[in-house]
Amino acid sequence: MSKRHTTVNVAVIGGGVEGCSIAWHLARAGVSVTLLERWEISAGASGASAGGVRHQGRDLREFPLAFRAIERWQTLEEDLGADLEYRRGGHATTTEQPEDLPILKASVRAQQLAGLDIRVVSGTDLRDLIPGISPNVVAAAYSPGDGHANPTLTTQAFARAAERAGAMICTGCSVTAISQTGGRITGIATADGPIAADVIVLAAGAWSGELAATIGLDLHCGPDGYQAMTTYPVEPHLVQVLGSMQRMISLKQLPDGRYLLGGGWPGTFSLETPRGQTNEANILGNQEAAIALIPDVAHAVLDQAWIGIDMHGHDDVPILGRVDGIDGLIVATGFSGHGFALSPAVGEAIAGLITTGWSPIDISALGLDRFDGASEASALHHAG
Ligand SMILES: Cc1cc2nc3c(=O)[nH]c(=O)nc-3n(C[C@H](O)[C@H](O)[C@H](O)COP(=O)(O)OP(=O)(O)OC[C@H]3O[C@@H](n4cnc5c(N)ncnc54)[C@H](O)[C@@H]3O)c2cc1C
Repeated sequence: MSKRHTTVNVAVIGGGVEGCSIAWHLARAGVSVTLLERWEISAGASGASAGGVRHQGRDLREFPLAFRAIERWQTLEEDLGADLEYRRGGHATTTEQPEDLPILKASVRAQQLAGLDIRVVSGTDLRDLIPGISPNVVAAAYSPGDGHANPTLTTQAFARAAERAGAMICTGCSVTAISQTGGRITGIATADGPIAADVIVLAAGAWSGELAATIGLDLHCGPDGYQAMTTYPVEPHLVQVLGSMQRMISLKQLPDGRYLLGGGWPGTFSLETPRGQTNEANILGNQEAAIALIPDVAHAVLDQAWIGIDMHGHDDVPILGRVDGIDGLIVATGFSGHGFALSPAVGEAIAGLITTGWSPIDISALGLDRFDGASEASALHHAG
């Protein structure tokens, strides 16, 4: 797609799941919006994601977004007119250490008080719930409303729906700078020339920092490379997404039987390309962590491994909203390895901010202004 307006009301920079969701929500609210993507839709973290859709284990500041997102996921396939491979089989954060049970229980209690449907499962209940689980796992924090979906399909479906609603989607279009005059956004510079815009949404993922720097803005986050990998298909049996208190692991089984392993194992990367390089030790470490939870993973042959690059907030929480002192600039970045699940609510929040002046979802704790003073992190725990 290469059609483009040279004057737009809103320019969204970045064709990841957040930018595409924002463009769709804006277009269906009747806003003239152009999305500019440097490579192709879902080229960045969104096309590399493990696709977990959970509200369990989030920072309390993200709870309003996470709750709304899970609500939206229930009808998202219908709303977008696309199969997103969304499955709601629950999420289980496991422990193999009996001495960690008090921490697990306290975390579950705190999340229950925040309104989440979550409970501790152990013993035969745990083994009935997750038949292939290792005998070494003693308990899990289980939230039945969580699940997973296909991130590439989801991002592309947001983009297609945005186009149907009237948005311009320009791929192969690299934004080189943001322009402002006297504290007011005027547009962007691209490799093909300038584009005037009243509002710019900076949703360029790991690449947001270099664009923010063109107007001297510090986003208080930096790029991070995360590993994910898939096996060849085996008999489907695992419906939950599994995490661990002791191990870096996120494990699920895709609808076709492939295991998908993640959990934040790092790799090397540069921002010149959307994917980084894996290393053998981390591939083995990731496999070992998965086998420790589901021994059957040892029988599944590894197919692919990759490194995706996401923007990591200095306090592990997204950066969302207006920027003080720069009228017309909205940031939506810093999703810190867990932004896919939030995407329907991110689009709704940012579109509301632009069309009505306020977000229908409470994102007041997620603004860049939280770094003005000492930030009070209220993390329940930081999951990948
Ligand atoms: C391996 C891995 C596993 C993950 N697992 C999960 C999970 O299980 N659950 C979950 O919720 N989240 C997960 N995440 C995180 C989630 O995928 C990200 O938080 C989310 O995809 C971020 O979306 P985004 O739109 O902000 O960024 P991106 O998808 O990176 O999109 C940004 C886009 O901006 C474009 N761009 C960059 N610079 C420019 C420019 N100058 N001009 C124009 N366009 C530009 C890029 O090409 C890119 O397409 C995972 C991430 C990774 C890498």
